[in-house]
Amino acid sequence: MTTALVIGGGVAGPVAAMALRRAGIEAAVYEAHPGPADDIGSFLTLQINGIDALRAVDAYDAVAGAGFATPSMRLRSGSGKLLGEVGTGAPRPDGTVSVTLRRSDLYAGLRDEAARRGVRVETGRRLVDATTAAAGVRVTFADGSTAEADILIGADGLHSRVRTLIDPGAAPARYLPVLNVGGYAPPQPDVTGSGGYEMVFGKRAFFGYAVAPSGEIWWFANPSRRDEPDPGELAAMTTAQWRSWLAELYADDRSPAAALVASTPGELVGRATYDMPPVRHWHRDRMVIIGDAAHATSPSSGQGASLAIEDAVQLARCLRDVPGTAAAFAAYESLRRTRVEKVVAAGRRTSNAKAAGPIGRALRDAVLPLVLRRVGSGPGWVHEHHIDWDAPVVPSRSSPETGHVTQR
Ligand SMILES: Cc1cc2nc3c(=O)[nH]c(=O)nc-3n(C[C@H](O)[C@H](O)[C@H](O)COP(=O)(O)OP(=O)(O)OC[C@H]3O[C@@H](n4cnc5c(N)ncnc54)[C@H](O)[C@@H]3O)c2cc1C
Repeated sequence: MTTALVIGGGVAGPVAAMALRRAGIEAAVYEAHPGPADDIGSFLTLQINGIDALRAVDAYDAVAGAGFATPSMRLRSGSGKLLGEVGTGAPRPDGTVSVTLRRSDLYAGLRDEAARRGVRVETGRRLVDATTAAAGVRVTFADGSTAEADILIGADGLHSRVRTLIDPGAAPARYLPVLNVGGYAPPQPDVTGSGGYEMVFGKRAFFGYAVAPSGEIWWFANPSRRDEPDPGELAAMTTAQWRSWLAELYADDRSPAAALVASTPGELVGRATYDMPPVRHWHRDRMVIIGDAAHATSPSSGQGASLAIEDAVQLARCLRDVPGTAAAFAAYESLRRTRVEKVVAAGRRTSNAKAAGPIGRALRDAVLPLVLRRVGSGPGWVHEHHIDWDAPVVPSRSSPETGHVTQR
């Protein structure tokens, strides 16, 4: 039986291990962090294409209960003017729509489900090095321990170590001009929401929120910041500093942003945001990358987790159906690269729009209503993506390396 080491126990890692197991490949997951994800104020939307991909390996039920439906986004300007409404994908025939859930619930749900299916998940194991030989791959962890298998799958996120083992010259993550901070505010009588996200292109910063079924209000703020903060600068900011900065940024907007920030209990932790420029090499020898390691997209796209799940399932199908590791990795890349890089480019444009100056803002507020009317339920090519687990992957006879792959 083929064996795989999966590095990273976030989103892509556990899904890859479950999908590989279905494909007859024994996989173990190694996660650097010793405990559950540290996710103060961090939640994300699992979009309908990500749900579809989880269903391809019957794993959606493991996390479905942790989320609530967020089928649409209503966008306003800072003056309160409605700019339009856009869907996060048309509902599937059974009524399924995109859901929002805490990052820690998504990670824990996927890891627990993988373990329940017999996948070994080891935490506190940070990969530092790997060597490949004709017969397999050997990795070394920070504690000096080692592990061996036939293949190595890097699901180790934005600052992937496996990416640089595949290509030491790989470009690093690329800074985006907005920061991100979020939290959970207690229910407020005058904030009812629309059954989806409320997004505000504020006069000085972007703000988004959704009202959970409990009435709790999940919010995030995107202060713009042109230059990348020095390492440590954001970590050194106190909750009081975040509060007073956000209060100032949202003071002039006709939105509940300032009140929501003020009423949120506990700590606020802000982070810089990044995406990845096109990554030259997704695989080498017996090593391959998936998820953010291969193509991190702006958080503004709301697609990173969904694309990571799609990758994991598609890689397993390729390893199941395409003979030879190199050809299977090439088939996986050719199934994925065009789609994910299009999403990354669109996400980058959205982040830039959030950071627009006064002229850009005026233009955006004039043009956005027209664009939103055209888009309707959201870009179909993103959300309608479907993975048929049982359909065989067939690499083209002419050139499996250059990537003409079909799913019959
Ligand atoms: C603020 C914010 C909001 C977002 N909102 C959304 C959203 O609404 N919708 C959406 O789809 N996406 C969203 N995303 C993106 C989404 O979180 C990522 O795209 C997704 O988590 C990628 O999954 P992954 O498994 O590739 O990487 P990750 O989830 O980052 O998991 C990588 C794992 O690898 C581990 N690791 C790293 N290095 C090593 C190592 N050397 N050895 C062992 N383990 C290692 C890490 O600890 C981590 O657990 C958001 C991101 C941010 C920052």
